[in-house]
Amino acid sequence: MDFNELGLGDYVLKAVEDAGYTTPTPIQQQAIPIVLMGRDILGCAQTGTGKTASFTLPMIDILASGRAKARMPRSLILEPTRELAAQVAENFDTYGRYHKLSKALLIGGSSMNNQMKVIERGPDVLIATPGRLLDLFDRGHLLMSDVKTLVIDEADRMLDMGFIPDVERIVSLISPIRQTLFFSATMAPEIRCLADKFLINPKEITVARPATSAETITQGLVMIALTKADHPDKIQKEKRAALRRIIADQDVRDALIFCNRKRDIGTLYLSMKKHGYSVGQLHGDMTQPARMEMLKRFKNNEFNYLICSDVAARGLDIPALSHVFNFDVPNQAEDYVHRIGRTGRAGVQGHAFTIAISEDINSLKAISKLIGKKIPLFEDKKNSVLKDIKGHTNSKKFKKSVIVRETKLKKSRTKKNIGSRKTNEQQNQPDLNTPSQSKTTKGAKKNQRTSKNETPKKTSNEKIKFGDTEHVPAFMQRPEGK
Ligand code: AMP
Repeated sequence: MDFNELGLGDYVLKAVEDAGYTTPTPIQQQAIPIVLMGRDILGCAQTGTGKTASFTLPMIDILASGRAKARMPRSLILEPTRELAAQVAENFDTYGRYHKLSKALLIGGSSMNNQMKVIERGPDVLIATPGRLLDLFDRGHLLMSDVKTLVIDEADRMLDMGFIPDVERIVSLISPIRQTLFFSATMAPEIRCLADKFLINPKEITVARPATSAETITQGLVMIALTKADHPDKIQKEKRAALRRIIADQDVRDALIFCNRKRDIGTLYLSMKKHGYSVGQLHGDMTQPARMEMLKRFKNNEFNYLICSDVAARGLDIPALSHVFNFDVPNQAEDYVHRIGRTGRAGVQGHAFTIAISEDINSLKAISKLIGKKIPLFEDKKNSVLKDIKGHTNSKKFKKSVIVRETKLKKSRTKKNIGSRKTNEQQNQPDLNTPSQSKTTKGAKKNQRTSKNETPKKTSNEKIKFGDTEHVPAFMQRPEGK
């Protein structure tokens, strides 16, 4: 199918052509004609599927046929994070380059005065995080009664972040005579309840996870031959050494390195800098302008390694990122998918490596269950990392630590199941993550990789396949009082 079969206007099509897109993605094929018809959408799609364009392209056409009024925007896009909101704003500029539409990006951590000025000028679209939007509304700078198109993006993330009460309040401020486009990566019962509440007779569209995350990412696991009984500094030091070995083995052009804890980001940053890598850091304690600046510099290739927390994991679109490293195994299996989904995008080959210790075994099992396969053990060219792994997994110490831990977990689960009262010990379940903050290692060693032409080293034969389904639901009526 071609873009010009979707009913989009000529100027939008020209912008799409400029962006280099030749074929609409499945979500775009299904959603765009429906949005142009004015119908509600319930979209089950992740980032990486092209979902942003699936709602921005038709919105631009719809907005182009009307006129903006001061302080009364006609459309609103709600995003869970500032980064995602900024990214959608960028998309809006790209696809709307041949239109004279204006936007207001309303996110926390940026000047409220500047945002108020933009609202005064009458933007066509608001792209906002819920908190800042309500702040501006409560101060009387905004009227939402004229919003005719509402996008609620990443609803599951909104739920995780506790934003649903804010979203519900925002929806209550908007006229019920509106078009609502609701997107979520997952359709948990709570999300479905919200969708039922906000949508009228939606067209339900489910697309497969982006093929990229399943098929174009080479994954690898490096087990460190240490257990939680070892000193946290030692564990961190070994992890950093393992990271450097993997990097030395790979042609890394640019990479995100995820840590579970903010304080570990600083330590790793200093250590990598000492070892001659060009690095930056990104985490939630930084001011919004500093975060945006850091991302911009990373995207401009001013440095190659961005050490970050999960703030950067979800939705960020860094074209052709070559590698993702999990310095820590993420606590939530879903986060693993989001983290590694930053690479291997838009059909480009990506690589994702995870460093783990034996206590991470349960998190790794949860990840395997979610992605439908085990993360293969990493084998480097010299086989040195693999030697460590073999030595480690065959060692008595490793096996014993896994057995002890699994027995403890089984016991505590059994006790919980039979309804016994929790003991203090059970309540304080051992932390699956590696605790630590350590000194940086000494000595400088130059980063050897610079190759622009990355070549995939190894590929796993196992591939995850996800079904591509589309459901057309029965017509639904909005129950009274909604
Ligand atoms: P999204 O799922 O909206 O985060 O989009 C993921 C990436 O796909 C972004 O880099 C988009 O620029 C890109 N993209 C969106 N639509 C298309 C398309 N039809 N063809 C190629 N790339 C696309």
